[in-house]
Amino acid sequence: MPSPALKGCRWRPPPGGREAHLPEFDSRASPKLQPSAQSSARRIWARASQVGVMVFAAALPVLLCVAFTRYEAARLVRSEAELASNFVVNQVMAIVGRARDAAQGFVPRAAEPCSKLAAALTLGTATQPYIRTLNIVDGDRLACSSALGQQSIAAHVFTAGDGRMPRGDWLAIVPRTPMVTDRPALLVGVRAPGARAVIAVVDSQYLLDLLHAAAPLSAYREAELRVGTGTSLREASGDAPIASSPVVADTRKLFASSVIDLRLYGEPAHLNKAWGALLLRYMPWVAAFSGLLAWLVHRAQRNRQSRREQLLRAMRAGEFHVEYQPLYGVESGRCEGAEALLRWVRPGMGAVRPDEFIPGAEEDGVIVPLTQHLLKLIARDVMLWGTRPGFHLGINFAPEHLSGADLLPDVRRFMGVIAGRRIQTVLEITERSIMRNTEHARRNLEALRAEGVQVAIDDFGTGFCALSYLEKFPFDILKIDRGFVLTIDAEGRSAVVLDAIIGLAHSLGARLVAEGVASQAQFEYLRARGTHYIQGFLYAKPMPADVFSRWYSRAGSEVSADPAVTARH
Ligand code: C2E
Ligand code: CA
Ligand code: CA
Repeated sequence: MPSPALKGCRWRPPPGGREAHLPEFDSRASPKLQPSAQSSARRIWARASQVGVMVFAAALPVLLCVAFTRYEAARLVRSEAELASNFVVNQVMAIVGRARDAAQGFVPRAAEPCSKLAAALTLGTATQPYIRTLNIVDGDRLACSSALGQQSIAAHVFTAGDGRMPRGDWLAIVPRTPMVTDRPALLVGVRAPGARAVIAVVDSQYLLDLLHAAAPLSAYREAELRVGTGTSLREASGDAPIASSPVVADTRKLFASSVIDLRLYGEPAHLNKAWGALLLRYMPWVAAFSGLLAWLVHRAQRNRQSRREQLLRAMRAGEFHVEYQPLYGVESGRCEGAEALLRWVRPGMGAVRPDEFIPGAEEDGVIVPLTQHLLKLIARDVMLWGTRPGFHLGINFAPEHLSGADLLPDVRRFMGVIAGRRIQTVLEITERSIMRNTEHARRNLEALRAEGVQVAIDDFGTGFCALSYLEKFPFDILKIDRGFVLTIDAEGRSAVVLDAIIGLAHSLGARLVAEGVASQAQFEYLRARGTHYIQGFLYAKPMPADVFSRWYSRAGSEVSADPAVTARH
């Protein structure tokens, strides 16, 4: 049941005269709005990292484009080379095939005397493509030639000079032949009966022209063709052999041990040209995208920045106020304290939920100034209250504040200002705070506890806190999260996890606060299990300072075993 005291209640700013009671806070109108050395260093660092993120966002697409186009250019050049080499090798195979067929045509007649063969050889040469001469060798002697007839020439000039005629069919490139000494030739040898063989001589110019046409030197620094044994044919832009590995190496087996092997070595200028063309095509788009991305990042940063600015401005403009939610003491039966809850009412826009702006303030690094502002507002409010000595005042502290250097001076200053009110200050911290920066936070809290501050662990059970931390961590109160209180059903049947938390708090010797108690059944259940305080709508909703003050002097000091009865006042 909501308290009637809340009906129609509105936040009214405190009368101006109040500030005269608070010299410590007055002298620092907005405590942390003036930057300390630490916070300006943090701001410089934040600015530098913002610029860094923006530069990175702008550079990333450009770098990716450069890398991608380089990869794509290399892939294009490679597939171009594969096409060229495929074409050349297929053509060479066709030429070899024609020459071999021509030679094989004379195998049955290889034993005939040259006088009978010479004319047929000459005719064969004239009618077959690519063939310069057709020759019959017998052992190591040239028996008959389409060009020379019968000549006493050693046959090994045809066999790349090792003097032995290869067995079976063979291929070889020789640097010269007896008649054409300034040009290499491709020999296609076919074995004939006895020690005889037929050799077709193909002019190398066909192969060189082919290489040149399919693999021009503008695209490749060198094209190297091997057909069978012997020397290789080279089309190269320089004399020195290429050290790098080829763009493609195409090797195909023809017959017996004869292979055709073509290697194409890339020309860097050709690759760079292809790369440049791709860059030219994509870069304008990528540059535009980079600019857009940098702008979006900048805008997101500015929004964030402006969220921070909004909070700082709202503090200066006095848009925040505090509401206080009473705490019911189960043993005493009356109000034993309150939790301070920050409220932000934006002019023309209404209230902003703390669940929204508190995490934002934490993200944007303004939670410490905001809590300092909150302490200032609380200090003003409590000056008007007539609370009993020992009244608990719970104040929420964010993890960053807890482990920072500001905590001790901030809380000490606050306690100094409210010293005359004999209020028990309770720092409400979440499990997140315990898990983060434990050592520093613990030292801060220990120092404050030694000065009379109490520590409450808020939202207990929701923050994945390792239980071992609890044993080591200095705290006085455990606040059971509303989620666990909700597990108590109307019949008051056992809520297992809640029971375990209550048991844990008892065995650790902590005082227990149950949050979000909204029904009589929940209250009875919690009271039966020794919960010390309850906080929730059953007893009272959060209310502005002046409303709370009136409520306290009327209902809060009233003793009642049933908080709902108080709420009806
Ligand atoms: P919290 O610290 O757990 O605060 C209790 C919240 O539960 C408050 O919500 C309160 O209005 C709500 N509540 C209390 N009893 C009941 C109930 O019976 N039923 C329901 N449904 N809700 C109940 P509020 O004020 O919206 O605050 C939400 C959270 O925002 C707080 O949770 C706290 O984490 C944060 N917060 C509020 N004020 C401050 C502040 O000044 N500083 C910091 N750091 N955080 C704050
Ligand atoms: Ca709290
Ligand atoms: Ca809580």
